[in-house]
Amino acid sequence: MGMTSESNSDRDLVLENQKLQEEVEILKQEKIYLEILLETTMLHADLVEQELYRSHQKLQEEITQHKITEQQLRASEKKLQSLLERLSQTNTDLEIMLETTTAHGDLIEKFSHDLSLRDSLTGLFNRRYMEESLVRHLGRAKEQEEPLSIIIGDIDHFKGFNDRWGHQAGDVVLKAVSRFLENHTRLSDTTCRYGGEEFVLLLPSTTIEDAHQIAEFLREGIKNLHHQYSYTFMQGLTMSMGIAGFPIHADCQYSLIRSADTALYYSKTHGRDRVTIASLNLCPCLKNDDY
Ligand code: GH3
Ligand code: MG
Ligand code: MG
Repeated sequence: MGMTSESNSDRDLVLENQKLQEEVEILKQEKIYLEILLETTMLHADLVEQELYRSHQKLQEEITQHKITEQQLRASEKKLQSLLERLSQTNTDLEIMLETTTAHGDLIEKFSHDLSLRDSLTGLFNRRYMEESLVRHLGRAKEQEEPLSIIIGDIDHFKGFNDRWGHQAGDVVLKAVSRFLENHTRLSDTTCRYGGEEFVLLLPSTTIEDAHQIAEFLREGIKNLHHQYSYTFMQGLTMSMGIAGFPIHADCQYSLIRSADTALYYSKTHGRDRVTIASLNLCPCLKNDDY
């Protein structure tokens, strides 16, 4: 009986021991499992932290980018605003210009018209205008059965004058002669610079006798002009002239000019500083191209 109870308690102990060992084993297993779990969790936590950090960084970057974009937008907005302001200013300027142009349209038109019809050095009408005027005056003279005279004048030895005093002094003379001619003819007359030192006067309703008197007066006046250029005083320049008239010398614009020109040539070849009336042989009406 005593044996039996002893062996029972031994077996219990063994069993107990076994149980304990098993429990230890389980606990060991659990510990390993927990360690793995802990490791995994830590790793995971690291990853989560990293991920969070990265997200945070990204967010920061996005915020910075957003701020930059916002600044850029504000700058663009300002730029746009100033562009709009400038545009509106330009628009206003254009409107004023348009208004001015429209308001002064007549003046501007007249000015540009004048520019194309006047000689830039002397301000007299140019050759083109003279030719157009001559046609008009001649038409009117024929219609009204009135005389029309033409004077062509050419400064004598002007090349020599330029050579002696210089081209700029020559220009001063051309201007002075132009003013003199303009100031001593009627408003209804047309005074033109025909070419270099040549001038043409169209005298409507003027007989050849009257034109002759006018030409003599002008020739004398030009001869007595005193010119000053810088410290140089010049005088004694003369002009030769030729005159012709409708209807006695010619009945078309070409022959009228040609007759006066031939008379001028006569003055040039007969001593200069003189006026010659065209010959009474009626000049045939040939166009400029024909002679
Ligand atoms: P003539 O008595 O035969 O007319 O002799 P001229 O020397 O006046 O004639 P020519 O045709 O030989 O010379 C004309 C001169 O007119 C030459 C040229 O330099 C001068 N001339 C033409 N146009 C102008 C100008 O605009 N300004 C100046 N200063 N001279 C000019
Ligand atoms: Mg000449
Ligand atoms: Mg000359």
